[in-house]
Amino acid sequence: MLKNVLDKGFIEVIDKLGNDLTVVNSARVSFGKRKTKYDNGDRILVRFLAENRHYSPFRHIIVQFHVKAPEFVMRQWYKHVVGIETSSSYPSKDHAWNEISGRYVPVNDFYKPANWRKQSLNNKQASEGSVDDQLKAEELFDSTMNTMVDSYNKLLELGVAKEQARILLPLNQYTEVYWTASFQAVMNFIELRDDPHAQFEIREYALAMKDMMYELFPETTKIWLEVYETMKTLSEPGKTIK
Ligand SMILES: Cc1cc2nc3c(=O)[nH]c(=O)nc-3n(C[C@H](O)[C@H](O)[C@H](O)COP(=O)(O)OP(=O)(O)OC[C@H]3O[C@@H](n4cnc5c(N)ncnc54)[C@H](O)[C@@H]3O)c2cc1C
Repeated sequence: MLKNVLDKGFIEVIDKLGNDLTVVNSARVSFGKRKTKYDNGDRILVRFLAENRHYSPFRHIIVQFHVKAPEFVMRQWYKHVVGIETSSSYPSKDHAWNEISGRYVPVNDFYKPANWRKQSLNNKQASEGSVDDQLKAEELFDSTMNTMVDSYNKLLELGVAKEQARILLPLNQYTEVYWTASFQAVMNFIELRDDPHAQFEIREYALAMKDMMYELFPETTKIWLEVYETMKTLSEPGKTIK
């Protein structure tokens, strides 16, 4: 399963462990029970687990993704440190993350935005709409990129090591990682990054990943996101939890 994202990126599911029954059977082991067919009782159980934050059964589902994204997106992604590694003695469990190395492989692909967004006026971190002079922004971008990529290639031709030549490359260079995480960690990523506060580019990845989770685990993903949306609405100012 592969979805293209941005101009040259993608997310691909390499492997997965589990299905919708995995969560309910992991929970039902408490009663010494296992089911082979998903039914309405399972939907009720999954909703109960999600609403009451009994998250461990959701961690038996594991997905391995291959992601190609610009470096500035990966720097945001890398803050999601919880994956499947459980033996680390560090306070936060390190995630399963392996990345292509610009020391081995020359960098060839760079992200080019299709729209130059304005600085948001009420959120220092965010953007909104489009700048009027798209052409000027594109010209500035193209000319700088041409100079940088040309100089990088010339340094390589001179025999400069890839590990050193790459230091002049910008944050829009594409990079590739394998990221393996549990259902819970993936949904946490989607909740935080498919959000109006997140940057447009990482949001595109979160949206693609959300579609994939619906395809892979339709029942669990639907219930999880319904519960999340309800909790989010109830925590908005002026709303009360009954
Ligand atoms: C809109 C937005 C803006 C951001 N801006 C910045 C910024 O300016 N600078 C910056 O540095 N980061 C920024 N971040 C990153 C943010 O601070 C988080 O590091 C990132 O979103 C990962 O979230 P997480 O910790 O929930 O994910 P994960 O690391 O995957 O953790 C998943 C969950 O596990 C639990 N957990 C993780 N570690 C521990 C622990 N040690 N102890 C107990 N529980 C734990 C928490 O419940 C956590 O939600 C931003 C994120 C967003 C969404």
